[in-house]
Amino acid sequence: MQKFLCLLATICFLCWGTNVQAQLKVVASIFPMAEFCRTVGGDLVQVKQMVPDGTEPHDYEPSPKDLAEINQAQILVYNGLIETWVQSVLQTSPNLYSVEAGKSLFLIDGKTDPHVWISPKLAMQQVTKISKAFIKADPAHKQEYTANTQKYLADLAQLDKEFAQLQHLSNRHFFATNHSAFAHLAKDYNLTMLAVMGLSPEAEPTPGDLQKVIQTIQKNNLRYIFFETLASPKLAELVAQETGAQAAVLDPIEGVTAERKASYLDLQKQNLAALQKEFAQ
Ligand SMILES: [Zn+2]
Repeated sequence: MQKFLCLLATICFLCWGTNVQAQLKVVASIFPMAEFCRTVGGDLVQVKQMVPDGTEPHDYEPSPKDLAEINQAQILVYNGLIETWVQSVLQTSPNLYSVEAGKSLFLIDGKTDPHVWISPKLAMQQVTKISKAFIKADPAHKQEYTANTQKYLADLAQLDKEFAQLQHLSNRHFFATNHSAFAHLAKDYNLTMLAVMGLSPEAEPTPGDLQKVIQTIQKNNLRYIFFETLASPKLAELVAQETGAQAAVLDPIEGVTAERKASYLDLQKQNLAALQKEFAQ
């Protein structure tokens, strides 16, 4: 009996050992990259998100512990442009296989904008790049990665179709306070993103800023003044008081907070609902 139990324990350990070892170790920079990796990889990957929830990705710098974790990984997936720390990491870890998921997608009206994941169309291209990288790093599971990717691309295509309905609406102006992260989305669906230049997400709004925003809201008869979860809603609330417009969230989905932890798809559906309310006749 004891021999049998030992044998059983050994078999279980070997199965467990092989299964954990088989998982691809992935480090993903920001929330949307981690989300895409988790969805494409499923149980076959172990994804470490570098920028913690609730942290502003534009200001993030990896700690020595984070850098050590990156060195343990088999793949580093990052968006590009927004992660100012990546180049120094790649220089110190020349053998680390890395994927810049936003590469060649940043250009918009002659300028570069890192927030490509906010566009469902561009997100599909990022997901495809990540899928190809996982298949290259772990060809034995090509079938599983391909199946996960196909399913997710179908979900993103459906999301794209729902956003595309916005184009038929006559009023398509919206105002986002903190930082203009929606240019790619606005371009894809022919929306007009109104912003007041020079507004810093963190700085106290000046009286001049306030006036400019109030004038923009009133001139365009906007119902909502959108703000994002990782920055102060102060300006939006002040303007709401002055104009009667409502302060509401439009999420650039570059990072989630503990209170607003949801999937990329769910957050985008909330963004779509917010824009539909603004554009409603
Ligand atoms: Zn941003």
